Amino acid sequence: MVAGVVGHPVRHSLSPRLHGAWIRALGLDAAYVPLDAGPDGLAAMARAVACGALRGVNVTLPFKEQALALADAATDRARACGAANVLVRRSDGTLLADNTDGEGLLFALRRQAPGWRADQGPITVIGAGGAARGAVAALAAAGCTDIRILNRTRSRAEALAAVLPARAHGWDAADAAFEGAVTVINATSGQMSGEEPLPLPPPVAGGRVVMDMVYTPLETPFLAVCRAMGHHPVDGLDMLIGQAMPAFEAFYGIAPPDIPARALLLAVLAPPSDVTP
Ligand code: NAP
Repeated sequence: MVAGVVGHPVRHSLSPRLHGAWIRALGLDAAYVPLDAGPDGLAAMARAVACGALRGVNVTLPFKEQALALADAATDRARACGAANVLVRRSDGTLLADNTDGEGLLFALRRQAPGWRADQGPITVIGAGGAARGAVAALAAAGCTDIRILNRTRSRAEALAAVLPARAHGWDAADAAFEGAVTVINATSGQMSGEEPLPLPPPVAGGRVVMDMVYTPLETPFLAVCRAMGHHPVDGLDMLIGQAMPAFEAFYGIAPPDIPARALLLAVLAPPSDVTP
């Protein structure tokens, strides 16, 4: 049973480490491999899934939109995201696209902010790319009725708000976007350095839950500043684990085992230093 992650580049992906550990813990006769498709090789990988040579694939940058377009059918959540991170073969040989990133986002928030719920109040998503789109779709499906998209390029936020239940804000309206927000999620690939630092959610009594999807470094500059302001930080590593769990079950037909996956990935990200004198 061979599955893998398709991207370009894909060498940096932690998914083979994670799925590999689950495979070993279950004693499966299976493999999960990185598949660099080059700039335009997704279709060939999709054919390998459709003909049964691969059990399925995770799809990462830059192919997530193309994966949805290539599939014969898609789950509602993949359509809502406008992108797919999973391709699997159905019993009739057709390709199904799914998107488990939103499930990963909710998994991370619930795990690192115990008691967190999507319907506790307004949520601000910073960014308007593919990850933000998936986040907004998942938060709305989980019960949030007041979602604000805050993006450097306001027109991109407006484009998302036109197809999802959210309001668009440019950075000149950051105060309004953060007003009353109980949760703030950074879904940009930008950080605090540079000429245009990210807008920061002002401190409030009791703090807010603030998540950064980026997990290298685990505590990003954005998250560190938010922690210092009294907010409750949630890092992006559990999102990676949470999106991988349903994908593993779709590929191998069995739920991943309960092993310390986070500790394993932390060791990969920051190997213990050599303590020899
Ligand atoms: P994307 O489609 O390229 O979107 C990038 C977003 O970041 C846009 O909103 C862009 O704003 C904004 N941005 C980029 N540079 C910026 C800067 N210097 N200052 C302010 N805003 C900036 O990327 P994506 O696929 O949505 O991914 C976003 C991030 O989420 C990535 O870092 C990715 O690694 C992470 N992610 C993590 C997980 C996980 O499992 N933890 C899963 C998915 C994604 P403009 O529209 O103004 O250009």
